[in-house]
Amino acid sequence: MSRTVLLVEDEAPIREMLKFVLEQSGFNTVEAEDIDAAQRQICEPYPDLILLDWMLPGGSGVQLAKSLKQHEYTRDIPVIMLTAKGEEEDKIRGLDAGADDYVTKPFSPKELVARIKAVMRRVTPTTNEEPIEFNGLKLEPISHRVTANDEPVEMGPTEFKLLHFFMTQPERVYSREQLLDNVWGTNVYVEDRTVDVHIRRLRKAISTYSHDRMIQTVRGAGYRFSTKM
Ligand code: CA
Repeated sequence: MSRTVLLVEDEAPIREMLKFVLEQSGFNTVEAEDIDAAQRQICEPYPDLILLDWMLPGGSGVQLAKSLKQHEYTRDIPVIMLTAKGEEEDKIRGLDAGADDYVTKPFSPKELVARIKAVMRRVTPTTNEEPIEFNGLKLEPISHRVTANDEPVEMGPTEFKLLHFFMTQPERVYSREQLLDNVWGTNVYVEDRTVDVHIRRLRKAISTYSHDRMIQTVRGAGYRFSTKM
């Protein structure tokens, strides 16, 4: 069944480009040019995801994101914000308002589709079995296979689980403790240091084509999987 993405963007050329890209990737699209139109379009059946522009006539996308997250019926619809500039403050405000991710303009269609799929995977774990790929690094959950530029990559089961977790939660920072909970499970007693050991092994395993650069250390916070350097 096709998923529906609601496109909230006032600039017609961008909206048309988004519609084209998404429909090429098998999504249905619904369009809205401002906040009023978006609110009219958000009704049953609810869209599976909302792509929300930051700057809109008659109010900002942040306001809309906030109000969606306050209502019981729309709270669970994932929102990806489109921001014009890559300003750190904007990103933080967007995520604070309840956006699930953000994409900075100008973006590549490929990256946008990857982000949409990643957010959908996060909210609907049933699709967790689909192969995931970033920059030529591919992980196939069903066969437990990892390839880098189509060449097989060997790694231990913990590194595989860690990589799987990272690839399904891109652009989010996780503390060592959160990684332990999510990858090792809450009933396992291991030291935080263990995370570092496995991160090191994972990086080494995927270093042939520099894919280890996507596993980033965030000082004082933990680790993040990111395609941005
Ligand atoms: Ca705009």
